Amino acid sequence: MGGVVVTGAAGFIGSYLVDALASRRGFEEIIGVDNLSSGSLDNLRSHLGRGYFRFIRGDLKDPRGGWVDGFRDAGVVFHFAANPEVRLSSESPKASFWDNVVASFNVLEAARRFGVEWIVYASTSTVYGDAGVIPTPEDYHPLRPISVYGASKLAVENLIHSYCSLYGIRGLIVRYANVVGPRSNHGVIVDFIRKLRENPRVLEILGDGSQRKSYLYVGDAVDATLHLFDYVRDRNGVFEVFNVGSSDWITVREIADIVVGEMGLEGVEYRFRPATSDGRGWPGDVKFMLLDVPRLLSTGWRPRYDSAGAVRLTVRGLLQSYDR
Ligand code: NAD
Repeated sequence: MGGVVVTGAAGFIGSYLVDALASRRGFEEIIGVDNLSSGSLDNLRSHLGRGYFRFIRGDLKDPRGGWVDGFRDAGVVFHFAANPEVRLSSESPKASFWDNVVASFNVLEAARRFGVEWIVYASTSTVYGDAGVIPTPEDYHPLRPISVYGASKLAVENLIHSYCSLYGIRGLIVRYANVVGPRSNHGVIVDFIRKLRENPRVLEILGDGSQRKSYLYVGDAVDATLHLFDYVRDRNGVFEVFNVGSSDWITVREIADIVVGEMGLEGVEYRFRPATSDGRGWPGDVKFMLLDVPRLLSTGWRPRYDSAGAVRLTVRGLLQSYDR
């Protein structure tokens, strides 16, 4: 089905998606678009210079950028570019608005102009905010994000819905739990490893450590995404939303224990730094997150790793990559 565009291709999840698409060989060409603001060409090194792959360095905030031409023969756009820093979004909300909302609007306009059939969008559990129902199903409402990041991602989901209604584009929204794995350069695991390499005796933990969330290994996240894409395409879906996560959750303290254990450390003192009176890591931190996933499981897909397994594998992979 023509070419496929991956925005955010040089980023963490986007680059694993390119790996998976390349091994499938289902598309004539894979076009990766990225402004390299947080992504790295190193993540794409096995594809650069290969006939099936084209990299366009471009900023999606610029509606006249050369990246737009990459959409010309694309049947599908996997829109994964974003500023994914939830914590920073409360300090600098502008970045979330421009890199998430404005950039996504430009992506949709380019898709409309060239008659792209499918948009697959990397959305997030943060659209649910402090949900009153846990595990939280896709049809939970009202959707009230508590971070600017979550609000920006929900705004884009709704933009995509309107483009699907108006312009014949089809949309698949995947609301990921916390995705972890090697190549990640932000989030709790990266933070803990960095701090413990600097000082192996003390670990500062944002929040009171009782925050409990669900984690998904990046290989599982990408596998689920491609599985769901095949699934909704075969069923002629127009606009579909799926939670994508594992069925369990772990606390931040348990993550600290895994990191400490995998680094072979003992007697590490944990210093908790709650940013709010109810023990959150930062303003806008959702303290309890577990996605309800029967909808995903009903399609026949299963994750390979639970939350603790995903965290452990990530710590091992990151430590190996730092040692290299
Ligand atoms: P990432 O930062 O590694 O990847 C994002 C990529 O987008 C980077 O390579 C960055 O350079 C690029 N980018 C940012 N702004 C751009 C712009 N204006 N123009 C062009 N490129 C731009 O982050 P990630 O963790 O891989 O996240 C990928 C997607 O998944 C994001 O949409 C994010 O919101 C979503 N998501 C991530 C998680 C997670 O736990 N990592 C969870 C839920 C949803």
